Amino acid sequence: MIRILASALILTATLARGDVPRVVTDIAPVHSLVAQVMDGVGTPDLIVPPGSDAHHMALRPSDARKLAKAQVVVWVGAPLTPWLAEPLTTLASDAANLTLLQVPGWTHRAATDEHGHATEKANSHAIDPHAWLDPEVAVFWVRAIRDALSTTDPDNSVHYAANADKAVAGLTSLRTRIAADLAELPSGTWLAPHAAFGYFEDRFGLPSAGSVADSDAEAPGPAHLAMLHAAVQAGKINCVLSETNAPTDYTDVLIEGTDARTGAIDDTGMALPPGPAMYSELLSGIAATLKGCIAP
Ligand SMILES: [Zn+2]
Repeated sequence: MIRILASALILTATLARGDVPRVVTDIAPVHSLVAQVMDGVGTPDLIVPPGSDAHHMALRPSDARKLAKAQVVVWVGAPLTPWLAEPLTTLASDAANLTLLQVPGWTHRAATDEHGHATEKANSHAIDPHAWLDPEVAVFWVRAIRDALSTTDPDNSVHYAANADKAVAGLTSLRTRIAADLAELPSGTWLAPHAAFGYFEDRFGLPSAGSVADSDAEAPGPAHLAMLHAAVQAGKINCVLSETNAPTDYTDVLIEGTDARTGAIDDTGMALPPGPAMYSELLSGIAATLKGCIAP
């Protein structure tokens, strides 16, 4: 009896050592960065599925179960997904929590409303959460992901370090490619679907003329739409972008009777399959859409 118990204990210990940490992520671009660092070791889970709106969602029971079992949670933070803050505290209180907005080394943008002004809504968050759209910020995040995974799973820290170096090299060349692609495009002539692209605009020197909705992706008011309509009619805006997988009603109204072009972009890669390559596909796709839409 004692012998059986002893061998059972050894079996448990062996399994535990070989275990891959259970890692839960919020949105697909973050999932992609974590998947790159975990490559060859394991695969993270994704809470916000492709096609859903990260700002406004409810946690599914299957996600609650994933959170309850998680050992590491990597998420942008409450300013992006306020609905996730409470479940993280109650369900994943034992997990290591990496809140990417709190990673040091880079500069936060202030959240903006649909006019490009700092938000003044009483309940709004002061930080623009869409920081993954700057590949240089992603470099800081990848290193923080590497450190969090290595702390929980020191046995695989050599893998995490090598993968993180590779990911950083990829982010650097991605940034160079996009910068070359977008060089010399006219500024301030395109309209974003919601105020999500500030980090991208700052990084690549390609400011928008504003956005249809604010950084929380709340529906625009009629006065704002009327102002945008006038700007498009006057030729100040020649590119009106809609959100991937969303109706294009406002786009059609805004460009009616003009030569303005349209296209679809979104901040979380709604139409892209999740995985290590997704992050690069998201940013390359945004750049390609902007170039095709803005180019004179
Ligand atoms: Zn957004």
